[in-house]
Amino acid sequence: MKLAWIPVILIILFIPVSAITAESVQISGNRPLAPATDSVSSAGTVTPESGSNFVYPIPPERKAQLIAYSRFNNVWRFAEFFISVAVFLIILYTGLSGKFRDWAQKISHKKFFIYLFYFLFLSIALFLLNFIPDYYRNFMVEHQYGFSNQSFGEWLGDNLKSLAVGFVFGFFIILILYWLINRFRRWWLYFAIGAVPFMVFVIIIWPVLISPMFNKFEPINNIELRNQMVALAEKAGIHNPDVYEVNASKQSSKVNAYFTGMFGTKRIVLYDTAVNNFTIDELKFIMGHEIGHYVMNHIWYGLLLAIFLITLAGYLADKILPGIIRKNSRRFGFSRLGDMAGFPLLMLFITVFLFVAQPINNGASRLMEYQSDKFGLEISGTTGDEAATAFDKLSVFNLSDPKPPALIEFWFYDHPALQKRMERVRQLYKQMNKSGV
Ligand SMILES: [Zn+2]
Repeated sequence: MKLAWIPVILIILFIPVSAITAESVQISGNRPLAPATDSVSSAGTVTPESGSNFVYPIPPERKAQLIAYSRFNNVWRFAEFFISVAVFLIILYTGLSGKFRDWAQKISHKKFFIYLFYFLFLSIALFLLNFIPDYYRNFMVEHQYGFSNQSFGEWLGDNLKSLAVGFVFGFFIILILYWLINRFRRWWLYFAIGAVPFMVFVIIIWPVLISPMFNKFEPINNIELRNQMVALAEKAGIHNPDVYEVNASKQSSKVNAYFTGMFGTKRIVLYDTAVNNFTIDELKFIMGHEIGHYVMNHIWYGLLLAIFLITLAGYLADKILPGIIRKNSRRFGFSRLGDMAGFPLLMLFITVFLFVAQPINNGASRLMEYQSDKFGLEISGTTGDEAATAFDKLSVFNLSDPKPPALIEFWFYDHPALQKRMERVRQLYKQMNKSGV
């Protein structure tokens, strides 16, 4: 589950965690949500159940929705950025952040508790300020396009759980961050180095501790599918992996699958929505792709890039922010970088930094996606057409635009456009057959 509204998690963990836990063959923003449906017929066509969106190939009215939803998302990516910026500016320019710190100091004299209460006030303020856009995007729009049939209460419950999880991780990060800022001149370097074991820890515990808070993970009951998945993993040198089916349809009808965890917690996870709507061959290709990420150490490349970006952002923040603070100290209610009340300013800076740096991160990600597509095709033995059908289904079921505007893809897409991937797997398959592989 993406904790989009908790900027701390978003920023510090966004790159690696999204690369790993939310890894997918899909490309659109995923807020899970809707009815588990129907199965794939032997002919490869999906028969719709009443109230379901799973109809393949796509009927014209759903095609119109696909276009509308994609356009909306393209605009929303910018809107989302400006909303985050606005929220941080409000907290800074109203002096709220300084007030939160003052209140926290009134409640306790112990440093630990001052940080705790400050961060609690800040988290609540961020949650409230982001609530309306969040509700609009992730509840209203997802219902409008038929992805979700979650009640408001269920949706809010999930969000509050995310708030709690974000609070725990964020508080831990803020404690260490300010300890470093107040102690070392090169705090940003130590912070980036320290982030490595922390991120690894998060990757390890996420599938066993956090994900189960939101969904039920059960060993897959389709034995044939399970055996095929295990055989695929064995072929890639991964022994006895756990294969789970997750009731993702509880939150969204969107389709996904991923390979996650590290060491003892690594596992193959298939959304029930995927199990119900994809053929075994299509699933084999998708899982081959996911295993490819694992085997080719994409997790580690992702981490490396994250560390580089954190270091650079920290260095720049250290150079740029003190001047801004000096000029606005009366308004902001704090006068130095080491003051916890400056946290929203740091977050604002990182939000802007990441927005600008996004093409680098996404470019690297798209490259790894292509590598995994190739790996998936080779290891699964799926034909180019079957793999392309899997992509086509993803586009249809998740309403993702197979051919987005080039600039949008360059800037925002961490997966290549589906149309390109479809063409590529067909081409690769032809080449493989020619060379007799
Ligand atoms: Zn991938």
